[in-house]
Amino acid sequence: MVCLRQRLLLQLGCSGGIHKAYCHSNAVRVRFAPSPTGLLHLGGLRTALYNYFFAKSQKGSFILRIEDTDQTRIVPEAVRKLEKDLKWVGIVPDESDSVGGEYGPYLQSKRLDLYEKEVQTLLNNGSAYKCFCSDSRLNLIRKDAIKSGLVPKYDNKCRSLTNEQVEEKLKSNSKYCIRFKLSNHSESWQDLVYGNITYNVFNNEGDPVIIKSDGFPTYHFANVVDDHHMKISHVLRGVEWQISTTKHILIYRAFGWTPPKFAHLPLLLNLNGTKLSKRQGDMSVEAIRKSEIFPNALVNFVTNFGGGFHDHQRTATLHLYSMKDLIEKFDLSMLNENSCKVNPSHMKEFNRAELKRVMSSGTEEEVKGFDRDVEEAYNEEVSKPNAPNRQHLPQVCPRLVY
Ligand code: GLU
Repeated sequence: MVCLRQRLLLQLGCSGGIHKAYCHSNAVRVRFAPSPTGLLHLGGLRTALYNYFFAKSQKGSFILRIEDTDQTRIVPEAVRKLEKDLKWVGIVPDESDSVGGEYGPYLQSKRLDLYEKEVQTLLNNGSAYKCFCSDSRLNLIRKDAIKSGLVPKYDNKCRSLTNEQVEEKLKSNSKYCIRFKLSNHSESWQDLVYGNITYNVFNNEGDPVIIKSDGFPTYHFANVVDDHHMKISHVLRGVEWQISTTKHILIYRAFGWTPPKFAHLPLLLNLNGTKLSKRQGDMSVEAIRKSEIFPNALVNFVTNFGGGFHDHQRTATLHLYSMKDLIEKFDLSMLNENSCKVNPSHMKEFNRAELKRVMSSGTEEEVKGFDRDVEEAYNEEVSKPNAPNRQHLPQVCPRLVY
């Protein structure tokens, strides 16, 4: 039986089959687009992995783009650590700021000229306008709305400024930002995971800022401009961004561009039902790496909850796969929409299962890598005459004795 989502993919000219090209038309190009505001956490890692599996299963490209437009939130070293974490789990981007590529730079703060040029297009075609409202006026509007039980949103006052009024304000050096004019209608689009989404942004939000008064673009604008210019075919990201996608589609329209296809990934939750966040240091990939979890155990653990693979055995028993196998088995149409609770203590079971996998069916390279790890970590024991050999490791390896 063909499920609803598979039917949707077929209608979009896409196939859910693992060996077929995903779309008839252009090459698959996906991006992982983190903001360098902290350590890579499990949710971010899962997004990166699904993007990677999808790209590689479709013989496409995986692009790493750093979204550093909010200069106040940048954490030094975040990009270097992120690249280290990705490499550790086996993700090597095809294009990134350090690897290079045809569509770079891949760091948004180096693309300011492009945003400046593109916002001019929207100003010229009447889809955007300069807004001179002060912070205190915006605060007042917000407070009044809350007091009256209304949705707090910008009242779009500066939409109606005449050209002369704008000129006058510019002459007096008034500070301004640029806002995008939302149209008042319900927009429908297809989410490759959640199906049809219909939403009227205008009813819930004021015109969004697209260029801030410091000249930097906001996420919403830079994201659209970059996905278009980097020829991104599919956007796979956390479901928390689904609410913004309608706004993004309106921006694509205003430019006359075709939006990419969107697939939103269900939330990862703590056991108490709260959202996993970057602020949970113990859930960072760096902390997990330092706690001696095998990279492939983590990869299997974090992609074990939300479906997405041609394999039912995987959830029934703790059967781990190599990156290569996961790429082969990945099928976007099999992702499910339910948010999933993550129990970190299960990672240890995945670690044991990974050791079993490497010893029973690991590639020569994996076995060698594992031997190297063990030698490094247990140097003294390994060099003794009666040292345990690899077959005895499940009994002696402290990684496995939790
Ligand atoms: N910079 C956003 C983040 O860190 C990216 C969202 C997206 O993928 O569009 O989550």
